[in-house]
Amino acid sequence: MWHPFTQHSLWEDDEPLVIDRAEGMYLIDTDGRRYLDGVSSLWVTVHGHGVPEIDAAVRAQLDKIAHSTFLGLTHEPGIALAEALLETAPSPAAGDGSPLRRVFYAGDGSSAVEAALKMAYQASAQRGEHRPLFVSVAEGYHGDTLGSVSVGGIETFHATYRPILLRTRQIPSPHRVGTADALAALEALLAAEGEQVCAVIIEPMVQAAAGMLTHDAAFVRGVRELSRRAGALMIADEVATGIGRTGAMWAVEHAGVTPDLLTCGKGLSAGYLPISAVLATEEVYDAFLGAPESDRTFFHGHTYTANPLACAAALANLQLMAERRTVEHAARVGERLGALLAPLSQVDGVLDVRRCGTMTGIEVASRGSRTGFEVCRRARRRGVILRPLSDVVVLMPPLAIGDGDLDELAAVTVECVHEVVGSGG
Ligand code: PMP
Repeated sequence: MWHPFTQHSLWEDDEPLVIDRAEGMYLIDTDGRRYLDGVSSLWVTVHGHGVPEIDAAVRAQLDKIAHSTFLGLTHEPGIALAEALLETAPSPAAGDGSPLRRVFYAGDGSSAVEAALKMAYQASAQRGEHRPLFVSVAEGYHGDTLGSVSVGGIETFHATYRPILLRTRQIPSPHRVGTADALAALEALLAAEGEQVCAVIIEPMVQAAAGMLTHDAAFVRGVRELSRRAGALMIADEVATGIGRTGAMWAVEHAGVTPDLLTCGKGLSAGYLPISAVLATEEVYDAFLGAPESDRTFFHGHTYTANPLACAAALANLQLMAERRTVEHAARVGERLGALLAPLSQVDGVLDVRRCGTMTGIEVASRGSRTGFEVCRRARRRGVILRPLSDVVVLMPPLAIGDGDLDELAAVTVECVHEVVGSGG
């Protein structure tokens, strides 16, 4: 095998952890050891594992049909999920922009971003404009396909591919330079080249893969305003931040704005099956209407687009989230986590603790190589699964986590951070 994002020269040295099953917030390995899922199985788990209601929805769908194509045919779980998603969609303030009213399905976060980029370009071309440029943010991350890598800005992951990527312009990260300077850079860029820009893509509120780099809502509002003025679309990539992660259903709600295109994935199916979506305004959608021979069709889609089992899981998830008020719960989880981690700000080797909702990054000072990994290695020995982003230890508990498990997660993390970077560590 060849594992994703894994240096196999190191992998071979480590005893691999083989996951066998799960119960609620815990993963269980083939030897029966239990581990608290501290990163929601890479940021996807919402209610925990083995949720009876979602299990039942997938089984019921399985009794009907496992897969049928969405190219030229449709099915009930796909329709019902689109309706449920649009019901949750952020709505623009009165008189300010357009609501998101169309759902285009994809398989993973990257493929949703890929679709959104192509939609933005094609929509502008079909309005007779020449807009071959995308604007993105330094240290951004939008996935691993070449389009999404093109708008990425994490050198370690992306620099290798620069010679073969799309044409983009980059503004500095608002986390690094502040909102005013980042927006000034965007304004200057759009003043010079705005007529050629089809879209500005951002991760609203949190640049997740960069290490949970947070910024304020004013940045999101500024991007909305400046892109609109330049005639460029705003793409909010909510693959990481959406579905309640920031303590709101969508991160753009913190800013009170609606993008032209919104991508989501990860928690959409509560960690059950791969499915993602692009939400689009009616204006974007309309740019693709025309006679068949006009070639205005969006020639894009995948074999398993809108897989019915995945749609059924996602629909059951959104219904449960509404019933259980999971987003409000997640906001409280975030606050409690913030309080539990507060003592870390006194630790010498802790450079920063950043949080938005349940998305949490603890940046530790480097102690030789792989300091973040060392913290996570120790946590695993104490029965907690974490995964770092370089020297940022990430906590991303399932949205529905209870107080007991959250306290355990925080206590183990604080202990391990102390051991690795605390004084004498
Ligand atoms: N966009 C953002 C903001 C992400 O954080 C990620 C994944 N971490 C992606 C896109 C890519 O999603 P996937 O891994 O499902 O392709």
